Amino acid sequence: MFGLRKGGKREIKKIERVLKNLDDNYECVFDYCHSDERQNIIINEKNNEKRCRFCRKTEPEVKFSKKAHAIPEFLGNKKFVLKSECDNCNEFFGKNLENNLSNYLGICRTILMLNGKNGIPEFKTKDKKERVKGIKNQELQGLIAIKQENKNFMQIDEQNKVLTFNTEREPYIPISVYKCLVKIALSLLPDSELKYFNQTIKWIRNKSNIDLVYYNKMINYTFLVERFVSSNKFINLRTRGYIRRNDKFKGAYFYFILEFLNMSFQISVPCLNKDMNFNINKNIIIIPSSYELGGIENTNLTVSIQDMRKIYKIISQRLSLSIGYSELEKNTKVDDRIWNLKDNLIKKIKKDLKINS
Ligand SMILES: [Zn+2]
Repeated sequence: MFGLRKGGKREIKKIERVLKNLDDNYECVFDYCHSDERQNIIINEKNNEKRCRFCRKTEPEVKFSKKAHAIPEFLGNKKFVLKSECDNCNEFFGKNLENNLSNYLGICRTILMLNGKNGIPEFKTKDKKERVKGIKNQELQGLIAIKQENKNFMQIDEQNKVLTFNTEREPYIPISVYKCLVKIALSLLPDSELKYFNQTIKWIRNKSNIDLVYYNKMINYTFLVERFVSSNKFINLRTRGYIRRNDKFKGAYFYFILEFLNMSFQISVPCLNKDMNFNINKNIIIIPSSYELGGIENTNLTVSIQDMRKIYKIISQRLSLSIGYSELEKNTKVDDRIWNLKDNLIKKIKKDLKINS
């Protein structure tokens, strides 16, 4: 079950089988897509009494003055807003969970040009000898500039138009990355389902990851299905939730999928009230992502299952990442301009190092 797999005809049959299983036993309770219309989408708006869905506190005991994002802003979310998250919970999740997911993604945030609160983050290696900068605006769909001294940092396959980056993730706590994805899933879940997740909410709100009451039960879930597409066909931020309606079926009660650009995550959201018989090694369903459903060539798709059980910080973990490009120019003079880039220069360098155009 663990490891990489690549596609083929057998893969298509497998996908059809999974879709039938989903259709027979699950209900899709949400499917949100971040399209171009510039409107805020309020998630779970019916919660009029302003009760925080995580700590269950109401005004005036807690405040609701900050704009809470149902999906972190650094994943490119500008419009999914959550009204039922109090300022305390918002701050707690930001400091303890979202920072870990952000570090886990590391250089991906720059290469995929994830536009967060402060734009696309610039990536630097620890010794600052390698730098990567992403630039995206209406004029220029996407450009990344790379400065490197160590030739191993980035390798170019000009024949297949692929760049491979060899670097390290920033320090992160695996179980907190998992908790962060659970938090996003619970933000999007309809109110009527929330009552089954009391223990899960207690778990993600507990600052200590060592709490044994939960740890032994939750680690049955903490495996992350991760996909990465190396082609330069990007997809919009999209998120789906599936709730099991047939309790005789042994899959998890709640599967959650989060997709953005070239990456997709799937988790089984812990639900101790409903998952008496769930065993992740036997019963996990790997739900087809938009890449498989949209017919992205299987050879460009990597699927791996990441073990996120560890509760301590991982300081340096190697990360190798390949991504396609459409045009490439090697020009050291251009680099200096890009590092201090101003909007009026963007037009001039349009044809320089370029991805995703
Ligand atoms: Zn709260």
